[in-house]
Amino acid sequence: MSESAPVLLVTGGSRGIGAAVSVAAAQHGWAVAVNYASNKEAAEAVVATIREAGGEAIAIPGDVGKPEDIKSIFATIDAHFGHLDGLVNNAGIVGVIQRLDEMTPERIDRMFRVNVTGSMLVAAKAVRRMSTRHGGKGGVIVNVSSLAATLGGGGQYVDYAASKGAIDTFTVGLAREVAAEGIRVNAVRPGIIDTDIHAAAGLPDRARDIAPQLPMKRAGTADEVADSILYLLGPHASYITGALLDVSGGR
Ligand code: NAP
Repeated sequence: MSESAPVLLVTGGSRGIGAAVSVAAAQHGWAVAVNYASNKEAAEAVVATIREAGGEAIAIPGDVGKPEDIKSIFATIDAHFGHLDGLVNNAGIVGVIQRLDEMTPERIDRMFRVNVTGSMLVAAKAVRRMSTRHGGKGGVIVNVSSLAATLGGGGQYVDYAASKGAIDTFTVGLAREVAAEGIRVNAVRPGIIDTDIHAAAGLPDRARDIAPQLPMKRAGTADEVADSILYLLGPHASYITGALLDVSGGR
């Protein structure tokens, strides 16, 4: 891998969509900073896959819901790579299926701290390093929203859906804010994708169970979402910013 390989930070890169993005990005020539919250083994496995294929990657622990952890993630990137060229703001959580009137303040607070505040603080640090306004060379950001932002998550997780609605608005606003500074900002809105996240909602078989109700009669895969993210990261999307791309099989 050449010293000048562009560097991509993938938050939540250890599993699911983030792991697929990390591996695909390395195949496209990115050096990848694979962030994870607690599953070191999974993150190290992603890094090993990338290195075995001749790519460059490091695993970086850090909870994006904690500003001090975000600081240390970027300190590691600065020390190891010395520059940053792209960010996939992918780390995200859901809670167990609940109505709003059953949710605790702590649940809602944590949802927004990880999914919204975390994504915004991570993007802010990326902009500090990539924007031409700050002496950077430009860059690209892809936020991972959800189709839930448009559906609302009623009866299931309105907190999660609202957090993703905030990501959509944030994507459009930041795109306009930094468009003249060499940075493109877009989002993907996955539909039902077959990953571990549904187990966290208490529905481990959700992807399989809901398949007959989906237009394409199947859930999507993490690799399919990764492909759309790689498109938005890459040169073929050079005139696309502020876009929200549904990757939801027509849902
Ligand atoms: P997943 O399989 O549950 O993986 C989540 C990843 O995020 C893991 O790498 C996890 O790290 C990391 N993570 C969780 N909390 C974190 C935190 N506070 N700080 C840093 N990293 C954290 O989830 P996924 O399905 O791939 O989802 C990825 C993104 O896609 C999320 O933003 C989610 O909302 C969005 N999305 C998913 C679907 C779907 O159907 N799967 C649909 C729409 C949108 P550890 O391995 O250390 O736990």
